[in-house]
Order: sequence, then C-alpha cells, then structure tokens
Amino acid sequence: MRQPTTRIGYGFDSHEFRPGIPLRIGGIALAHDKGLGGHSDGDVLLHAVTDALLGAIAAPDIGTLFSPADPKWKGADSAVFLREALKRAWEAGYSVANVDASLILAAPKIGPHAAAIRGHVAKLLQVPADCIGLKAKTPEGLNLENTAIAHAVVLLERRIPPNKARKKRSKHR
Ligand code: MG
Repeated sequence: MRQPTTRIGYGFDSHEFRPGIPLRIGGIALAHDKGLGGHSDGDVLLHAVTDALLGAIAAPDIGTLFSPADPKWKGADSAVFLREALKRAWEAGYSVANVDASLILAAPKIGPHAAAIRGHVAKLLQVPADCIGLKAKTPEGLNLENTAIAHAVVLLERRIPPNKARKKRSKHR
C-alpha cells in the first residue's frame, strides 16, 4: 500500500428501528422503545466508523469482512468490528487523527448522550474524546421516521517509527 502522510476514509450505514429490542448507538445502550435491527447488534454509528477506517486503508468493507450470512456475527457486539478495523489501520502503519460523524434519526434525542457516545468511541479507537466529533440531526423532509442513518469520516496519520523521527530531527540541527 502507498503510504502518504495522511489517508481519509468515509463510511455510511443505515438500520431500521424495530420494537422491543435494545438500542445501542456508539456502543452505548440508550433507553428507547425500539432498537436497531440487523444481524449484529445493529450499532449504526460503529458500523459507519468501522467502514470509514477500512475505507481509509482501502481494505474490504464491513459486510465483506463480517458477512451478515455468517452465523458467527449474529448479535455480535459491533465493537469487535471496530477493533478489527483499527488493528488493520495500525498494521498498515497508521493511527487515528480524528473522526467526525453525523447521526440522522427522529428519536431518541442524542444530545444528552453525546458525551458518553463520544467518550466510548474514543476509548475504542484509543484517542482522546476531543478527537471524536458527533452531530445528531432529525431526518427532516426525508420521510425516514423509522430509520437511523450514520455518516462518518476518519483521518489517519502515518506513524513515523521513533528512530526515523530522531534522524529527521538531527538533520535539521
Ligand atoms: Mg450496519
């Protein structure tokens, strides 16, 4: 893989609300009368961030790596997918600089939980919470009252091995 200083990734996901199942967004359990259906835990935000990470390193997408046809991933904690994507980014020589994500859903209100979600995603990606941006919007004019959508972009930065960084500095002395 070519190793530019930075690489950008973009991810999108959508899931349908279903009554009587737990709702998890960004790895945080939210009290609501409906949850997001899907083969795994339906965590729309973690799926979008996972695909953004995989896209940044031109790896296969989440549906290819963790096929919904594979019973192994039934009800899976989506943190597993995100950790695998992060591991692949590290192996490719990159670490996460920052993430910015948008959630589009009619309910529940995300504002009161935004700090917890950002903190949890930051922990999963092993970056400070101020490296995770999160906006929530209602699907005005989209007629998507029963759907949750997430978009995410991630910026990766190349990790310079410490010995190379030292050499670089001494050159400028
Ligand atoms: Mg999904």
